[in-house]
Amino acid sequence: MLGFEDVVLAGLARDGGLYLPQSWPQLSADTIRSFAQKPFADIAVEVIYPFTGGTISRPDLQRMADEAYAVFGDAAVAPLKALSPGTHVLELFHGPTLAFKDVAMQLLARVMDHILEKRGKRATIVGATSGDTGGAAVEAFRTSKRVDIVVLFPDGRVSDVQRRMMTTPTEPNVHAVAIDGTFDDCQALVKAMFNDHAFRDRVALSGVNSINWARIVAQVTYYFSAAAALGAPDKPVSFAVPTGNFGDIFAGYVAKRMGLPIKTLIIASNENDILPRTVATGRYEMRGVVATSSPSMDIQISSNFERYLFEASGRDGAKIRDLMAALAVSKSFALGPLWQQLKHDFAAVAASEADVADCIRRVQSRCGYVVDPHTACAVVASERVEGAGEVVVLATAHPAKFPEAMLAITGHGPPLPARLGTLMTDPERFATLPNDLERVENFVESRCGGRTKATA
Ligand SMILES: *Cc1c(COP(=O)(O)O)cnc(C)c1O
Repeated sequence: MLGFEDVVLAGLARDGGLYLPQSWPQLSADTIRSFAQKPFADIAVEVIYPFTGGTISRPDLQRMADEAYAVFGDAAVAPLKALSPGTHVLELFHGPTLAFKDVAMQLLARVMDHILEKRGKRATIVGATSGDTGGAAVEAFRTSKRVDIVVLFPDGRVSDVQRRMMTTPTEPNVHAVAIDGTFDDCQALVKAMFNDHAFRDRVALSGVNSINWARIVAQVTYYFSAAAALGAPDKPVSFAVPTGNFGDIFAGYVAKRMGLPIKTLIIASNENDILPRTVATGRYEMRGVVATSSPSMDIQISSNFERYLFEASGRDGAKIRDLMAALAVSKSFALGPLWQQLKHDFAAVAASEADVADCIRRVQSRCGYVVDPHTACAVVASERVEGAGEVVVLATAHPAKFPEAMLAITGHGPPLPARLGTLMTDPERFATLPNDLERVENFVESRCGGRTKATA
C-alpha cells in the first residue's frame, strides 16, 4: 500500500495495476450545500484534502488550488449555462488548452512540484497523446522547476491547434516528439518505458495519463460544484459525460460514493461504443477503432473501467485480475453477475456521426449555443435517457479546438479565443523519432536524465 504522494508520483503501479483509495471520504449534506456559495478552488480543497491522508497541509493545498484555477479564462472556472429547460452545460474548457483536461492537470502539476520539492527530487514525465492530453500536460508543467516533460504524438495525426499547443512553448524542460507511427505506437512506447524498470529508475519516470489517480480526484470537484449550484444535496441531478477512457465518468462515480446524490450517470460515447455495448450486453468486447469528429474519445480500451469493476465486485482483486487476463488473451470478457450492478450504476448511449452533426446544428439554431463534437455526444445521450430529470452535460472541449470538424458541420470554423494570441504563428520546436524504444529512451535520457542525476 502506498500513500497519496507516492501514488501521485508513480502514476502506474509496477505490476501494471491501478491505484484506488482504501475507503471513500464522505462529505456531509451541509458541506455540499455550502458549495453553492464557494469559489471553485475552495471546493477543490474540500474534495481533495480528505484523500491526501494529511500528507499535504490544507494551506498548501489551498495555495496550489488558487494558483491552478487563477489561470482559467472565466472567473467561475467551470461555469454552468442553461441550454434548455432541464438541461445545463458545464463549461470545462476555460483552461489554457481549451479542454477539460486542464482542470486536473493544472492542479496536478503544482502538487507534483510540491511533493518533489519536499523530497529534494526531480522527475521525468513521459506521455503519449492523441491530441488533448499532451497539450494540457505541457501547459501545466512548462513552468515546473522539478519536472522534465516529454510528449510523444503520432506524426501528422494530431490537429494543427493540438500540435502547436505542444510545440510552441519555449521552456527548456518541454520536449515534444513526433513519432513515425500511430497513437497506439506512442502508447506502446510509453508502456515499454514504464516496464523497463532500470530506465524507469534512472530518469525517475512518472506518468500523467488518464489513469493517474490524482487526475481523477481533481475531476471530482466539478461534479460537486455543478450539483450544488443546482440545489444538491436537496435536489438530485444527473450527469451526461463524454468519455472514452472511463476517466471523467469514473470521477462522477467517485462523487456519488462520497455522498453526492446523483440520479443517473450517463456514459456518452461516439461510434467507438465499447461502453454502451457492455451496458447493453454484459460483454466487454474490443473492436477496431474508427476515426470520428470527437477524436479524444476514439478509444477501444477504457482503462479506468478496471477501477469500476474492482468496486462493483466488492474489491475482489483476484476476480479483476482474471477478467483483465481474459481481455489480454481473447480481447473480451463476460461481466457475469457484475452486469446487473453496471446497469444499476450507469446508463449509456453511443452517438453516431450523423447524430453529432444533427445535434450541433440543432443546438445552435434552437438555443444559440455552439457545442463541440465531444460535448454533442453527451447532449445526444442526455436526450435519449428517460427519467434522468435535470441533467448536467459536461462540455469537455471548446468548439474552436476542432475547427475542421466544426467547419464541415456548421459551415464555419469558430475563431480561437483571443487569449490564445499568437499560437497559430509562433515558431514550433519538436524532435522527430522512429517508432523505436531504444532511440526514444536515449532521447529521453539525454534531454532529461542528466538533470535528474545532477540534483538527485
Ligand atoms: C480526454 C477527453 C475526453 C474523454 O475523457 P476520458 O478521460 O476518456 O473520460 C472527452 N472529451 C475531450 C475533449 C477530451 O479531451
